[in-house]
Order: sequence, then C-alpha cells, then structure tokens
Amino acid sequence: MRPNASVKRNAAYLSSMLEPVHITDKQAFLEEHYPFTPVVKLTDVFRCIHCIEVIRVADFKAYKGENGFIYICCPNAPECDGTVIDWMPLDMD
Ligand SMILES: [Zn+2]
Repeated sequence: MRPNASVKRNAAYLSSMLEPVHITDKQAFLEEHYPFTPVVKLTDVFRCIHCIEVIRVADFKAYKGENGFIYICCPNAPECDGTVIDWMPLDMD
C-alpha cells in the first residue's frame, strides 16, 4: 500500500470515529491517561514512527473513541494516526 493512501484513509477514520477532547491541564491529563510509567513530561521530545516527525509532548492531541476510550495522539493528528504508543525516544534513531 502506498503511504499517502494509508494516511488519507486514516485521517478520514479519525475524523469520523473520534471526537477531539479539549484539555486544559495537559500534564494532569497525561498523569491520568498515559499508559506507561514513568509518565512523560510536556517538555519531552519523541519521534512519531507514523509521520516520522519529531514531536513535543506538549503539542499532543487527544481524541475520544466511540467506546469512550481516550487516545493520546500525535500532534499531527488527524493527518497522522500515530498515538502515544508510536512515540520513540530520539536516541533510537
Ligand atoms: Zn505522527
């Protein structure tokens, strides 16, 4: 499959299935919803392996799925369908 086709399909998926979540305190949000320990800081930087861009945690977006589950998403969502599990440390480059 061509990467462009995949990205386009996923953007449509995200915008139709998921509803953006507005967050006022992003650090508190991470402490509640981040799936791993230790919880990352807003100042941390990772590489999203879906869009291959370097992202700052402070720029993350959150979407709520139909099942009520909240996904911590790449700052480039919905164009990128990467979520928190796709964020890799820069030293793994
Ligand atoms: Zn991404």
